[in-house]
Amino acid sequence: MTLAPFVGHLQLREQLATAVTAGKLPQVVLLTGPRGGGKQRLALWLAQRVLCEASARTEPCGECAPCRKVLGLAHPDLHWFVPVPRPKAGESEKQMEEVAESLEGIMAERRASGLWGPPDGMSSHGIASARLIQQRASLTAAEGGWRVFIIGRAERLVPQESSQEAANALLKLLEEPPPRSLFILTTAEPGLVLPTIRSRSIPIRLPRLDDGEVRTFLAEHKPELATNGVVMGARGAIGAALASGDDRSAKADAAAKDFLAAVAGGPVRLTARSLRQGVAQARGEFTDLLDALALQLAAGARSELERGGATVSINARLAGVERVLVAREQAQGNVNPQLLLATLGSDLAALGAA
Ligand SMILES: [Zn+2]
Repeated sequence: MTLAPFVGHLQLREQLATAVTAGKLPQVVLLTGPRGGGKQRLALWLAQRVLCEASARTEPCGECAPCRKVLGLAHPDLHWFVPVPRPKAGESEKQMEEVAESLEGIMAERRASGLWGPPDGMSSHGIASARLIQQRASLTAAEGGWRVFIIGRAERLVPQESSQEAANALLKLLEEPPPRSLFILTTAEPGLVLPTIRSRSIPIRLPRLDDGEVRTFLAEHKPELATNGVVMGARGAIGAALASGDDRSAKADAAAKDFLAAVAGGPVRLTARSLRQGVAQARGEFTDLLDALALQLAAGARSELERGGATVSINARLAGVERVLVAREQAQGNVNPQLLLATLGSDLAALGAA
């Protein structure tokens, strides 16, 4: 099985291909656009275009050995990093091995199906992922050409959690990428990407697809989803259509709204809400809630900004986003979710973020 094809965006492809041919493609790119909108698929297309042997055209040929290896997720110079569960080992070499194994497992699934869904709420690019990126970036290209690093969900890149040194090394790598190396970071939430990373990358936005393009893709690859309701609901993002059978994100959204209402409702309601949080609940579900919370606060800040609202309330919401991200880090450890929600809620109330 090879990857499902990259659909649409012909103008953007042509612009990128022209930049590659002219040697003008930036070495560090931040792809933004709607969630499930094909950013990582575009990154893979770009990797294929850069590695393809038939170079002077818009589309990679799809026939040469490098093209076939990229499409089979088996090119030794293509390094695709996605969020992974936190490694259990204590020692950093062992942690990197665990990350490499997790990634290999995820890639094996993607090779088998050609499609993929959103990562688990608990997974991230932690310190061990950052070290693995650096280690691989320090090696020479296996095939003597370009090396391409794709970092999906770059808002989950949190290398500073326990080592400033690793964080700095990663920033240095993005500031001065080795020759013939390309870093493609993707995110639906550029506002949540560390500013130090954002400032080192050139943003490229991937727009929505037409409904017709989404429908055609579904008819070919997931015919059971090619209905009017799914196509309309996807709003131009194939990934959203593929995830429409999954109610995880809707549940997390509802839980986040409920929590913010409890925060706004005062300490008694907040305590009641925190106590309702299951202690033994699946951790993935808990971090899904925190993710949804960060997104809702960020969306609140954005709409306030567009409305020309008061700076103080925009800043309060942004401070709230940062506070939620700290809680998200803590949630990876062995913290009681009830306690974490209670302190998070009272901090959000004190900031005036809810
Ligand atoms: Zn080719």
